Amino acid sequence: MELMVNLSRTTRRGLAGVAALTGLAVVVPAGAQAAPTNEAGTRPVPVVGKAAESGTDEHVHAEAPTAKAGYTGPSALKIVRYNKLYKTGPIPASRCKEVNVSMRTVAGVNKYATQVYKCLYAAWKPILAKAGARSTAAPKLHITTASTVNTRCGVQRMTRAFYCENNIYFPANQMVSLWKQNSTYARTYATNTMAHEYGHHIQEQTGIMDASWWRQRAMKTQSAKLEESRRRELQASCLGSAYIGANRRFYPMTGALYNQWRWMVNNMGDAKGYPRDHGSFKNHGWWSEHGFYATSSTTTAARCNTYESAPARVS
Ligand SMILES: [Zn+2]
Repeated sequence: MELMVNLSRTTRRGLAGVAALTGLAVVVPAGAQAAPTNEAGTRPVPVVGKAAESGTDEHVHAEAPTAKAGYTGPSALKIVRYNKLYKTGPIPASRCKEVNVSMRTVAGVNKYATQVYKCLYAAWKPILAKAGARSTAAPKLHITTASTVNTRCGVQRMTRAFYCENNIYFPANQMVSLWKQNSTYARTYATNTMAHEYGHHIQEQTGIMDASWWRQRAMKTQSAKLEESRRRELQASCLGSAYIGANRRFYPMTGALYNQWRWMVNNMGDAKGYPRDHGSFKNHGWWSEHGFYATSSTTTAARCNTYESAPARVS
């Protein structure tokens, strides 16, 4: 039995072009057993059920951007493709440990997720400084039990994590219910989701987010817009995974947790029948592992330059 968890689908409304969701369709293996591999043939088929909220292509109907004077095609391309972020060198291991707490309660989710968030801040701060980022400050973290939140990117249903302009919104109740289904999966999901959202924050602070949204709006065809969205989302996942990989000896992302992580990232992305705005499962897995698997001395943000990648790799 499998189920589609309602932490997933993707929509975004981009006021000022900076909204982005985790928005990843995920299949959760039911029961206590983590799915240890991503072998072809053993991979569960995604069940796209009523939990998925956006059969519509909402990101196309993003709210009008605030004025973004100063971009041109070449200048926006320069920001996304030749960003100083890609020259910042190895990502330091934060040496943060996973906090040993049950996420059976909202308080537990709060503890667990806040720890991951603090670790991400510690690891990324020097990178942001080297990249000449707008700010090296952490985003504001909202662990919320609300069903909707009012954000600068519009009202958002808290069925999934969400990033908007220096804010990470993280739904607590969904994590509790995930924990009750499969605690290893819940740990993996919480860690990976927070890392992905923090990846959006890195994009935000380095100017990539705004420039990418500008490019997306300027694009003429729907397929070009979707490809730009996929480059942005796959990069956020790659950056998140690069952090997890850089810190993997300390967290530690090994054993069952690692197996679950690897399975999960290869089973995330655009589910059948939904907008192709996050990338195929295959490419999501590829970018996640690409970020993660470098040796510690070469785990760099440069590996996550999805804007330089051939279209097939961001399909
Ligand atoms: Zn995202």
